[in-house]
Amino acid sequence: MMSATHSRSEPDTIAQLHTRIQELEAQLQEGALYTHVLLDIAKALNASLNKQVIASNIISAMVSLIAIDKASVLLYQENTQTFEVVGVFDSSTINPRLPVGFDFTTAHKILAQGTIFYEAPHAPSQDWGWVCSLPLENAQHKIGLMNVHAIRQSEISNAQLEFLETVAGHAASALENAALYDLVQRESITDGLTGVYNHRYFQKRLREYVSLGQRKKYQSSFGLLIIDVDYFKLFNDKYGHQFGDLVLKTVVQALSQNLREEDLLARYGGEEFVLLIPGASEKVVHLISEKIRNVVEQTRIANPETKEEVSITVSVGATVWHPADNPSSIITRADAALYQAKRMGRNQSILK
Ligand code: GH3
Ligand code: MG
Ligand code: MG
Repeated sequence: MMSATHSRSEPDTIAQLHTRIQELEAQLQEGALYTHVLLDIAKALNASLNKQVIASNIISAMVSLIAIDKASVLLYQENTQTFEVVGVFDSSTINPRLPVGFDFTTAHKILAQGTIFYEAPHAPSQDWGWVCSLPLENAQHKIGLMNVHAIRQSEISNAQLEFLETVAGHAASALENAALYDLVQRESITDGLTGVYNHRYFQKRLREYVSLGQRKKYQSSFGLLIIDVDYFKLFNDKYGHQFGDLVLKTVVQALSQNLREEDLLARYGGEEFVLLIPGASEKVVHLISEKIRNVVEQTRIANPETKEEVSITVSVGATVWHPADNPSSIITRADAALYQAKRMGRNQSILK
């Protein structure tokens, strides 16, 4: 047989060839595995718009092919220039956190430079392995950073690096989609001028509160306030619409500083706001109405052009949930209270 003859006459060459074939087979297998895993990663990443889920998929993907010990995925917030930690992995604990003293300064530098950062042990005797940070970005935006730390390996291989780069590419587009989705979600429920919830979101939550009340009767009392700026048309006529806008924003700031976490403030329309106060009795609703009226009355707003300080007042129509209420009846009652407050001279709160 040919091979037997060869093996007898040129044993070294044959052995070398065998080794080479084994190497090539291993590379081929590694390549096939990488391709396979990459397809899975691309699928998994594109299947979600939740940034935490995406980060955890990114980390699982890396762990499936590289014996990494720590990893983190950071999302960059362009408006605040800060990082949001969306995923952390640590093989030594089930409750991972970013390492104490994690260097955000370096993270900022790597993202600004837009090139991969890699650091291997300085001496072979050192066993802390390599670290690699990959910027996540596209042509327009800096999206975030992917950090990997492998303790048990002395050096990253070319194949591993290529793999991480490909994962980073998929990760960047998936995280960008998720961030965009979050933004659209947020914008669809907030008022553009004042930043509080919009009319549609308020209506949705009011329906939820009313139907919760119908199911669980007594536990679910809540208060509803309609807050309307007094003589606002005159204010606009006198000072202009832009100062009027600033007044609306200032009123919202003043109100927001006096609310609890669970209170829901929304712009009902124009210069009218609604406040939904979960769990409030008539007495509490009355106190809050008066507090709000008073806070606005005390607020001074400087005209950016003339520096003149002005103040405005609001009228408040308030009510509490009745077991027979539907969303419309409770608003009608608060509206009637507001109308009465206006008729009685404004800068008043009325509870009905
Ligand atoms: P009242 O005391 O009876 O509530 O009088 P009012 O002038 O506040 O009430 P009216 O409903 O007649 O006028 C509301 C005004 O609010 C009319 C409109 O010009 C103004 N307005 C509504 N939305 C905005 C806004 O987004 N920005 C500004 N600057 N003004 C607004
Ligand atoms: Mg008004
Ligand atoms: Mg009005």
